[in-house]
Amino acid sequence: MRSAISLAALTLLLRGVRADSTEATEATILDPTAECTPYNYPPVANVISSFPPLWEPVASVPTTDPGYAKFLAMNSSIPNIAPKGTNGAPSGVIDTYSASDPDCWWSSSQCVTPKVAGLNPDIATMPEPLTLGYGFDDGPNCSHNAFYDYLTSKQQKATMYYIGSSVMIWPLQAQRAAADGHEICVHTWSHRSMTAFNNEQAFGELWYTMQAIKLVTGLTPTCWRPPLGDVDDRIRYIAQQLGLTTILWKYDSFDWKANDPVVVPPVTPADVQKNYDNLISAAASGTFNTAGAIMLTHEINNYTMQTAMDNYEKLAAAFKYIVPVGVGYNKTQPYVETNVTQPSFQAYIAGSRTGASASASGSGSAATNKAGVAGSGSGSGSASGSGSAAQATGKGAGVALRLSGATLVLAALLGGAALVL
Ligand SMILES: [Zn+2]
Repeated sequence: MRSAISLAALTLLLRGVRADSTEATEATILDPTAECTPYNYPPVANVISSFPPLWEPVASVPTTDPGYAKFLAMNSSIPNIAPKGTNGAPSGVIDTYSASDPDCWWSSSQCVTPKVAGLNPDIATMPEPLTLGYGFDDGPNCSHNAFYDYLTSKQQKATMYYIGSSVMIWPLQAQRAAADGHEICVHTWSHRSMTAFNNEQAFGELWYTMQAIKLVTGLTPTCWRPPLGDVDDRIRYIAQQLGLTTILWKYDSFDWKANDPVVVPPVTPADVQKNYDNLISAAASGTFNTAGAIMLTHEINNYTMQTAMDNYEKLAAAFKYIVPVGVGYNKTQPYVETNVTQPSFQAYIAGSRTGASASASGSGSAATNKAGVAGSGSGSGSASGSGSAAQATGKGAGVALRLSGATLVLAALLGGAALVL
């Protein structure tokens, strides 16, 4: 959605813009309003014009973009499966889709074993018994410091599925995940239904998110999670060509639906707690004695992060191990760059929290992995338990400023609607 922004609103936004900051400084802020006050980050501001408009479906990949040749190289071999909608918006095709599920369309059948030859199966469970593949969608959330502090205090790493547009708006928050040693995966540029994009758009949604994460952390992810789980063999093929493993889930906390007035029937916090409790009791009753579980949870707002903290100890008691998804699969090299690694499953459960890491290159110097501190020590846990500082509404307010000659480009995001001036 594009709309004009009034002078008054622009003034308010500019007044809220902070001076340049660093990941380490940003990570110390626990007042949610301060955390979610936009800041100028030159490495992003300087190149934002070469990225798609924030939060809008990627329309195309310009021929001048380095990704274009990559797209052309794969385009002719992409499975000939029609988009299930237009421009990221699903159509009613799910009502008429064949029950035989020819496309291995997760939204229709929860299919995770592709039908097109050569495609890797999705990850939806964990190979090790009584192991929870721990992760959070829809970050980086601007006010996630209390939650990330909590994870650090528990020496707990997780898989963070980051939205490209949010990474561009909150780059220092994205850097924190790398600095804390979490595993960062792609969660698309605009968080639409991927099967409802044409090939070029679907490529762009993944490509630009990979570029955004690389820009701010110095790291190129090798995993992704489709928003709403919406993936079929055409989309899997594009992701696999980009080196991305598809990660889904088998259990859903439905935390993302809670407290949303438009959800009918409504999902209450009690419903979400019941979903957590069901997973916990399933673990206790032996459901995961041969293979572990992945549950869908979010860092989208204060409620979802607080709920995660409220349930962490109970999960830790029910499951033998809680690990990032990649760790559970012994993916010791989670990024294209080899200077940051993560432990194998055996090393992780033996207490290691780091691979052999070194400073990452790129704009995001924070990718220097400080996880070793948490792995070997007790963790400071300054916000341990309370987590009350996290309150953002996920798609909070953010701006990126680009001053170039007489041109002022202000890309603003308010409540999920992209306003571009
Ligand atoms: Zn999501």
